[in-house]
Amino acid sequence: MKYLCGIVLFVALLALSVRPSEEACGYEACPKTKTNMINIHMVPHSHDDVGWLKTVDQYFYGHRSNIQHAGVQYIIDTVIAELIKDPSRRFIQVETSFFSKWWSEQSETAKQVVKKLVNEGRLEFTGGAWSMNDEAAVNYQSVIDQFTLGLKFLDDTFGSCARPRIGWQIDPFGHSREQASIFAQMGFDGEFFARMDHRDKNDRIDNLGMEMIWDASDSLSNDEIFTGLLYRHYSAPPGYCFDVHCGDDPIIDTKSYDNNVKSRVDDFLSYVTEVAKHYRSNHIMIPMGDDFQYEDAQVNFKNMDKLIKYVNERQAEGSTFNLFYSTPACYLNSVHEGLQTWPNKTQDFFPYGSDDNSYWTGYFTSRPTQKRFERDGNHILQVAKQLSVFAELNTEQQKEDLEYLREIMGVMQHHDAITGTEKQHVSDDYDRILYDAILGGVNTARDGLRKLTNLPNGEFESCLQLNISQCAFTKDGADNVVVTLYNPLAHTSTQYVRVPVKNENYEVTDEKGRVVASEVVPVAWQVLALEFRNNDTQHELVFKASVDKIANFYIKKIASQETKNVVAHTQSKRSIKAEESTLEVPKRFKKVHSLKNATETFDDDEGETVVQTSQVKLVIDNKTGLLKTVEMNGVSENIDQSYGVYRTYDSGAYVFRQYHQADFIVQYEGVEFTVYDGALVKEVHQQFSEYVSQVIRIYEGKNLVEFEWQVGPIEQEEEFGREVVIIFNSTIASDGVSYTDSNGREMIKRVKDLRETFTPGLDRQPTAANYYPVTSRIALQDSKKRIALLNDRAQGGASMLDGQLELMLHRRLVRDDGYGVGEALNEEKYGQGMIARGKVYLILSPSDESTAAEREAEKEIHLPFWKFFSKNTGSTNSIAKSVPSFDDFPKSVHLLTLEPFNDDEVLLRVENFLDQTEGKVVSFNIRPIFDYLNGVEIRETTLDGNLPLSEMKRFKFHHDSSGHKPDAVEYFTSAHKPLAAEQSQEASEFSVTLHPMQIRTFIIKTQ
Ligand SMILES: [Zn+2]
Repeated sequence: MKYLCGIVLFVALLALSVRPSEEACGYEACPKTKTNMINIHMVPHSHDDVGWLKTVDQYFYGHRSNIQHAGVQYIIDTVIAELIKDPSRRFIQVETSFFSKWWSEQSETAKQVVKKLVNEGRLEFTGGAWSMNDEAAVNYQSVIDQFTLGLKFLDDTFGSCARPRIGWQIDPFGHSREQASIFAQMGFDGEFFARMDHRDKNDRIDNLGMEMIWDASDSLSNDEIFTGLLYRHYSAPPGYCFDVHCGDDPIIDTKSYDNNVKSRVDDFLSYVTEVAKHYRSNHIMIPMGDDFQYEDAQVNFKNMDKLIKYVNERQAEGSTFNLFYSTPACYLNSVHEGLQTWPNKTQDFFPYGSDDNSYWTGYFTSRPTQKRFERDGNHILQVAKQLSVFAELNTEQQKEDLEYLREIMGVMQHHDAITGTEKQHVSDDYDRILYDAILGGVNTARDGLRKLTNLPNGEFESCLQLNISQCAFTKDGADNVVVTLYNPLAHTSTQYVRVPVKNENYEVTDEKGRVVASEVVPVAWQVLALEFRNNDTQHELVFKASVDKIANFYIKKIASQETKNVVAHTQSKRSIKAEESTLEVPKRFKKVHSLKNATETFDDDEGETVVQTSQVKLVIDNKTGLLKTVEMNGVSENIDQSYGVYRTYDSGAYVFRQYHQADFIVQYEGVEFTVYDGALVKEVHQQFSEYVSQVIRIYEGKNLVEFEWQVGPIEQEEEFGREVVIIFNSTIASDGVSYTDSNGREMIKRVKDLRETFTPGLDRQPTAANYYPVTSRIALQDSKKRIALLNDRAQGGASMLDGQLELMLHRRLVRDDGYGVGEALNEEKYGQGMIARGKVYLILSPSDESTAAEREAEKEIHLPFWKFFSKNTGSTNSIAKSVPSFDDFPKSVHLLTLEPFNDDEVLLRVENFLDQTEGKVVSFNIRPIFDYLNGVEIRETTLDGNLPLSEMKRFKFHHDSSGHKPDAVEYFTSAHKPLAAEQSQEASEFSVTLHPMQIRTFIIKTQ
C-alpha cells in the first residue's frame, strides 16, 4: 500500500509542482548560507553499487532480498516523490546506469516532473558516470569512456542543468592521480571521497588537511583540482540514520512523553561542532545516506526536515549553527567563495590502509581472468567504434549493439566489478553480460568490415579463446583462411600474429600476393593439458604483419616438402618433453609432472643455454633452468626471473594480508625447460611447479621479452591461501625507488616504506604496505640501466628489494577479509581451481635512453591487432573502401577515441602519450580526417565530449605556499583557444597542438 499512496500523492503534487516558477540550476540554485555561522550542508545521497553482493539487475529491482535488502528503483521512485513536496529538499543522484534504467520506465508526466526538479537544482547529478569507477585497476581510456557515456545521457535527457560539477568517488579503495586529472580535464570543480589511509587521515584531521588542492599531473598545466575527504565515511552522523535500514530514533516533536527534540538537537550539534574543528572554512558537509538507503525516502526526509527546523530555531537564542539541505557542489561553491588557501597534494592515495594490518592491495589482482576479460571488452569496443565510423554503420541493431557494449564496459569499471570484490554469482553475471556485449561488438565490427573490404560475405569471425590457442574457425586446419587484421592504433604497427593450426605446412601471403615469412610452433604442453581445451590444433602459425588500419593475410596449406617451417625443439632438460612435443597427435596431459619425481639427468647440467634474435639475447642457466642474463638495447644485465607464493592466512578479495614474515616461498629448484629455436620466434618453455609454467618468447625484430605465464589450479590448503607472484631480480641499484603507472598514463615515483606526507604503519604488513596498482607498467633504474615490466591487465606490484620487481598474478584464498563480500576468494572453473594465463613483458634499456619505446609497447599491448577470420573465396586482394590513415600524425599521438557520437556527429579524441620527460609539443592537422568524414563543422569539448570547451569554467584555488591570497573568486578556463571551424575555412584552422600528455576532444558534425 505504501507505494500506491506514493503514486497518488505523486500525481496530486504534479499539479502543484508544474506551476510556472523561476528556474535556476547549478550554483544559482544553491541554498542561502549565513556568514558568521557554521553552515551545515546536509547532503542526502544513496550509495548504489552497480553490482556487489547482488547483480546489477537484482539491485535495481530489489530482487533477492535474502542476500541484501536493496532496490534502486524504489529509491529513485520515493526520492522523487519526496523532492516534489518541498522545494528546499535536495538529493544527489550518482550512478547514471541505474538512473537511465529507471528513466526508461517512466511515464511522460513523471519525466516532466523530474525535469523540473533537475532544472531547479533539487535533483542534482553528481559524479554522473555510468558507474562509480574503481581507481586502481582501471585504464584511463575506459574511465573517460564511461564518463562520456554517463554525461551524454544526462546532457541528452536534461541539458546543461544536469551536468555534474563534482566527482563523487566515495567508495573506491584508494584514489589515483589520473582520476583527479580526468576530473580536471572534464571541467569539474572538485572531487570528494571517503577512504584514505588511516594514518594519513589522522594527520589531516589534526592538521586541518582534510581538504587540499591536488596537482593531478606532472606534465599538464591547469590540472589542479580541489579534493576533499569526508569526515566519517559517507554515512550519516552516528545516531542520525533515519533510513528504514537503521534503528536510530526518529525526531519526536509533539507533546509526547517521548519528545526528544532537545537531546537530538544537542547531540547533533555536538557532533557537527567536532567536525567543524577539523575543516578550515565555516562550511561543513554532512552526508546523509549510505549503501542503498532512501528506499522509503519519506522517513528520511520527514526526520531531516524536523532536524533542520529545530537546529535553526535555536538561532533565535544565539546559536551559530545553520542547517540546510545542500549538495556537494553547493558546499564547494561556498568554500570557493571563502577565498582561502589550501594544502597541496602531488602524488596519489595508494595503497589504502584502513588499519596497520589491513592494506587494500589484494584487489589490485583479485579475479585475474575477469580483469583480463574486461580488457578484451575495451579492445573490441575501440575496434567496433572505429569501424562503425569508417563504415557509417547506422542500423538500429548496430547502434544498439555498440551502445550496449559501451554500457557494459561502464558497468565493468565499477568499484566492485573490475576490482574482483563481488560475490561469485555476481562475478558470473558480469562475465555473462560482458560476453554478450562483446558478441555484439564483434558483430558490429564484422558488419563494418563487410562494407570496407572486398569480402562482402566474409565471416569475419572473432576467436575469443586465442589465449589458449583455440579457434573454432581453424580447428580443422587453416587452409584457405583469410586473416583480416584491424589496427586500432593511429600508426602503422608491426606485430607478430599467431593462428592456431594443425601441425602442417602453410604459406602466408599478403594482399599483393607476396609470400610472408611464417613458421609453425608447438603450443606449450601445459596448454594442451588443459582438460577443457579442445585439442584439434596443437600448433600455432606465426607470421609478422605490418598494418596501417586494415590488412588481409591469406593462409594456404602446402605440401610439407616445399618448405620446412615447423620449429622443433633444439634443447631440452628432459628427453620426455621432447618426445611429447613432437608427437603427431599428442596425448592429453591429464597429470602435470611433479618436480619431486624429476630424477632424470640433463644434457649439460653445468653450462648455459643461449637463445637469441638479432635484438635480444637470453641466457638460461642449465642447472637451475632459470633465466640468468638478458642483453638488449646495448646493455646486458643479470636478470633471474622466477615465481613466488605468499601463503596467507586471512587475505581476502580486498586485502592482501601476510601471515608472518616467512610466508613467502620462491620456487625454482631445477626448472624443466625446452627451447624452440625458430627463425621468427624463439621460445623457452618452462615448468616451475605443479601449477606454474611459462613460455619466455622473443621475436625477431622486437625489442621486448615476453613471459607468458600460466598459474593454476593453485593448490589448496585448509588453513592457508596462496597468492602467486612473478619476480624479476637484477643487480640494478634502484635504492628503494620504483615507478608505477597511474591508470595507464603518467608514472608515479614510489619510495619503499615512504609516503608523500605521512609515516605508514609497516610493522605488521611490510609487503602489502608497499604494494601499488600496476595497470600497465612498473619500472626501476639506476644511473646505467633500467628495467620495465608491462602487463596485460591490472595487477598489484612492488619492489621489495633493490633491483627487484614483483607482480601478483593470481590468488586463491580460504577466508573472507571481513569487508562485506562474505565469501572467500576461491574461484573455480570446470570443477577445479581457476587457471589464469597472461603475459608480462620486459624491456631492458640504458637509463639515459628515452622511455618512449615503453610507451609504444604499452599501446600495442593494450590495443593490438584484432584478428578476424574468413574463408578465402578467391576474391581480389585489395581493400574495397579506403579508410583514412592517421600515420601522418606525429609518432607520439594516440588515437584515443573515434566513435559515433550522435547520428550526424563523430567524436575524435587525440592524445600526446609521451610525458614531459619523454616527449615534446607536437602539432598536426586534422583536416584530412575531417574531410574523410564529410565534416561540416568541428568544435572542441571538455574531455568527456559533452561541454563546449569554450564554456568550460571551473573553480581555481590556491596553495597555502603560493603566496597568493585571492581577493575574488577565480576560475580556470581553457588554457588554449578551443578549436572551432567549418568546412569552408582554411586547413590551417584545423591545426592541433598537443603538449606532453595532453588530450583534446572534438565533435565533428558530418553531412
Ligand atoms: Zn560501493
